[in-house]
Amino acid sequence: MTDNSVSSNSPVRPLRVAVVGAGPAGLFTADALLKNKSFDASVDVFERWPTPYGLVREGVAPDHQSIKGVTRVFDRVLQHPRVRFFGNVAFGEAVTRSGLNALYDQVVYAVGAQTDRRMGIDGEDLRGSWPATDFVRWYNGQPDCADLTFDLSVERAVVVGNGNVAVDVARILLTDPEVLARTDIADHALEALRHSRVREVVMLGRRGPAQAKFTNVELKELGKLDGVDVVVAPEELELDFASSSAVEDRRVSRNLEILHDYAERETNDAPRRLTFRFLVSPVALLASDGDVASVRLEKNRLTQSEGGYLAAEGTGKYETLEAGLVFRSVGYRGVALPDVPFDDRRGIIPNREGRVLDSPGGEPVSGEYVVGWIKRGPDGVIGTNKACAAETVGLMLEDAGRLPTQRGESAVDPDAILAVLAERCPDYVTADDWRRLDELELARGDAEDRPRVKVVRVDEMLDHIRKRGEA
Ligand code: NAP
Repeated sequence: MTDNSVSSNSPVRPLRVAVVGAGPAGLFTADALLKNKSFDASVDVFERWPTPYGLVREGVAPDHQSIKGVTRVFDRVLQHPRVRFFGNVAFGEAVTRSGLNALYDQVVYAVGAQTDRRMGIDGEDLRGSWPATDFVRWYNGQPDCADLTFDLSVERAVVVGNGNVAVDVARILLTDPEVLARTDIADHALEALRHSRVREVVMLGRRGPAQAKFTNVELKELGKLDGVDVVVAPEELELDFASSSAVEDRRVSRNLEILHDYAERETNDAPRRLTFRFLVSPVALLASDGDVASVRLEKNRLTQSEGGYLAAEGTGKYETLEAGLVFRSVGYRGVALPDVPFDDRRGIIPNREGRVLDSPGGEPVSGEYVVGWIKRGPDGVIGTNKACAAETVGLMLEDAGRLPTQRGESAVDPDAILAVLAERCPDYVTADDWRRLDELELARGDAEDRPRVKVVRVDEMLDHIRKRGEA
């Protein structure tokens, strides 16, 4: 029998868990912990921003409001009497790995993937070449990116990659700003997009249309944008023999149908244009006066590896595409947390189904867990994190009965963390503080017939919270 010294049957105290990161993965984890029937769990959620929701706030596109409905679930979690939110608290500064391990029975890292993958080509860092993630954070009002300036005076932008982030970036660049004005897009982005002179977005896939990662609904949406011609060369939709078998996948076959429909469309001299290119890789970005001016492309063919994977291989045929802006949308990448094990090759915290390992392929570390993109890498939609959280929480509950006594006893005082925060991070934000800020954003949105108007600077957020707190 296991020793259930912290179970709900025990008069001692609840299982005390710290969740680092208040995005979908962290909040689904808190939710699963609250709903479990084996242990009373109390959960403290730490977040570097004063605002919760992670990618739902800073990643999901502003014209996809329905996806943001999941915040109703997250709000219930944050208001739960056994949950405390500590926002504006950076992990590694105010709170550390050893500090949290001393104060909690279990610690869960749910910090997502904070940077972008690199393409590794010449010119990648020229002015005008951006990670798509920066653009996404900019239009979503993430404080770190609020002051970025994208030169939207250029005529053609290139988006590298065939995932849903590439689709989001292309769509935001091409959508009529007056449509975006009815969303919660950050005001600074709306203003800049109103003056945009970008007339064409070219989306580049290094493999073929059957290998594109975007999903049907997102692809279809691109064909419905007012004032936008969609252009695909029919010859780029021809499949090689190996790709033909991928058509059995419903998502792939539907994508191909949609792309064929685009290829057959007449263009109407619309004011803006979206062009799809397949089987091309940027091999260098070329400059004029230090700014990106064109992309050197190599035509690819597909080659099949032993495992069946179809990889892009250069054919030695090149072309040059003029472009004044390049968005590299080739995937997110996790960033190491101070003192926490990291698998640099995969950009994740090494883990076995959610139990943190001391090194890739190494031994489990007692009481530490991981969930979301920093556990499995940057794929899946917001809802994918629910199942991911359920898997991690299942292991946490399994382990909870055999926590080392020493750790169990040191985690006894729920107020100990308040003393740490009061000393190191007195500007921390609680769930009630966030609710006040939320109410302000919603009220500002109401006044403009928008879902919300975001506050995008941390000092402004804190000013508002303090002012309202004093009222
Ligand atoms: P993704 O789906 O993994 O797509 C990355 C794309 O970049 C792939 O087409 C990949 O091509 C390409 N790529 C990678 N390295 C490259 C290189 N060196 N040169 C050229 N192309 C390269 O990633 P994502 O778009 O960042 O999306 C992340 C996750 O969020 C996905 O699961 C996505 O579905 C999800 N998401 C969902 C929504 C939505 O539901 N509306 C919106 C945004 C994001 P290969 O296939 O050849 O590797």
